[in-house]
Amino acid sequence: MDATLTFLGTGTSMGVPTLGCDCAVCASAVSSEGDPRNRRTRPSLRLSYNNRVVLVDTGPDFHAQAIRESIRHVDAVLYTHGHADHILGFDDLRPLSFRLKENLPLYADSETTETLRRIFNYTFSERERYSTAARVALHPLNEDIPGAGVDIFGACFRRIPVSHGPQTITGYRFGSAAYLTDMSDIPAESIPLLQDLDILILDALRRQPHPSHSHLERSLAFVEQLRPRRAFFTHISHDLDHAPTEAELPPHVRLAYDGLQLNFEIA
Ligand SMILES: [Zn+2]
Ligand SMILES: [Zn+2]
Ligand SMILES: [Zn+2]
Repeated sequence: MDATLTFLGTGTSMGVPTLGCDCAVCASAVSSEGDPRNRRTRPSLRLSYNNRVVLVDTGPDFHAQAIRESIRHVDAVLYTHGHADHILGFDDLRPLSFRLKENLPLYADSETTETLRRIFNYTFSERERYSTAARVALHPLNEDIPGAGVDIFGACFRRIPVSHGPQTITGYRFGSAAYLTDMSDIPAESIPLLQDLDILILDALRRQPHPSHSHLERSLAFVEQLRPRRAFFTHISHDLDHAPTEAELPPHVRLAYDGLQLNFEIA
């Protein structure tokens, strides 16, 4: 089945430009003479297939991203983890959820489910439910078996455990593509789940190592090890200037940018 993937955002948690920063990349991100690919909103994906729209994460820029990409309809959302840059756009699902016949299905691991329930308590609380809260239904992911899958509109989404500093969070494989945002390491159990990929999307924060994110050199080593047909780096900070950084990379490895679309086979 043909699918299209759109990068709604490709920035790190602080976004690019980073507030208060005057560096060349942050300046380029907002200048009319700059490189618009340096303007990086918080990381998220849209997948379109089978006449359905599935999102991976809803970060704090989701409202602006949805307007930019003319998202008028969402059928499901998968979450990677509960950090602010991945969940704070949750409330902007409200008007989209009202248009559906059933509650909007959300998929998340147990820790993320707990965080969503705590932060958006007025949505999930039976006693104090806010009347115009999002109409959603949380579906827990199987965390007992690495690579366990869930069928969403005819495509299988497998949970790929990844290390994000001290935490284990959720990466996803869907058909010939995998999305591993926010990761510092790939556990041995996840390596066999990432073979024969057309598209591998990986965290590559900056040049210097970071305790909870992979950096450029490390992400390149993962690409070498896993040998996808093409790789795209995301969750990028203001450390990486788009064009000069890409010029250093092998041709099958690119920096993702907001609005970039890729076609692939999802099932
Ligand atoms: Zn993040
Ligand atoms: Zn900067
Ligand atoms: Zn994170």
